[in-house]
Amino acid sequence: MIEENNNLEFSMHMEKNRKATFVDWPYDDESCLCNSKNMAEAGFFRLKSENEPDLVKCFVCLKQLDGWEPEDDPWKEHKYHSSKCAFIKLNKKECDWTMDDFLKIEAERQKSRVRFHIEQQIEHYKQEAVKSREFIEKII
Ligand SMILES: [Zn+2]
Repeated sequence: MIEENNNLEFSMHMEKNRKATFVDWPYDDESCLCNSKNMAEAGFFRLKSENEPDLVKCFVCLKQLDGWEPEDDPWKEHKYHSSKCAFIKLNKKECDWTMDDFLKIEAERQKSRVRFHIEQQIEHYKQEAVKSREFIEKII
């Protein structure tokens, strides 16, 4: 499962690819700070979600955010909710990146992916432990 999304999410390194995910974005107006251009510049791409139509994700730290308001500044929101994100710490526009910047960002993205996968597995095992405990308590 972790490999299936890898190619798609790797392409999110490029701002133009992130921008392209914001089809029919409800805040796509120059007067909105969280318009698609600013969202993509701030590292976000849009996730497909029927229940959360404004759900976005950072391509590096993988932080997901929704509940956007027109006056929300994507950079400030990203920094507020994920201050340790390597993209936020780099604080450079894509056109100013060096190869070293790119490689450091990719290394951090991979760390985030592994961390996310491990946290999912830990949660899965915790749920299985609860089920097993309940089963054992029933039979003894
Ligand atoms: Zn981030």
